[in-house]
Amino acid sequence: MAGADWIHVDVMDGHFVPNLTIGAPVVKSLRKTTKLPLDVHLMIDHPDRYAEDFIKAGADYLTLHVESEGFSRGLLEEIKAKGVKPGITLRPGTPLKDIEEFLPVVDLVLVMTVEPGFGGQSFMHDQVSKIHQLKALRASNAYSYLIEVDGGISDQTAPQVVDAEVLVAGSYVFKNDYKKAITTLKEIRRSSP
Ligand code: ZN
Repeated sequence: MAGADWIHVDVMDGHFVPNLTIGAPVVKSLRKTTKLPLDVHLMIDHPDRYAEDFIKAGADYLTLHVESEGFSRGLLEEIKAKGVKPGITLRPGTPLKDIEEFLPVVDLVLVMTVEPGFGGQSFMHDQVSKIHQLKALRASNAYSYLIEVDGGISDQTAPQVVDAEVLVAGSYVFKNDYKKAITTLKEIRRSSP
């Protein structure tokens, strides 16, 4: 997969976000083609109705939006009990305090640096402080989640998010030579303090 470490799958329902994308069947077929971790980002309402399908399809990480209708702490715990790593995420306009109570439960926290729903938007610099706060919260509470950033990641913005362990890159990779783009992002991270 051109040097990528994970495959990030954006699932949109045409409701929580206006776009409509792939569902569990696509995750299932991806599962057959790769052993890389499948990182599934559910931008949907009622994740409680669909989580099971994505677990069965072979997701490794299943990330829920705190703003989704039907979201609950119980659902995060259920995902974990089924052997899949639960993640939590929030829209850029949602304050970090809205997810704080879920941080002890999750294996991944996704910081959106664009409004979810469409590719190709520019990186929102004002979201970077959330990454720093998440790192500090993790250290002071001995939480174990990974911090992931999604939205507008490129060679220009990657140096600003070195505190995140996982970078999602869409447009930047697909508009360039995949392998070269991924190598560039990895080099930026290696050379950062
Ligand atoms: Zn995503």
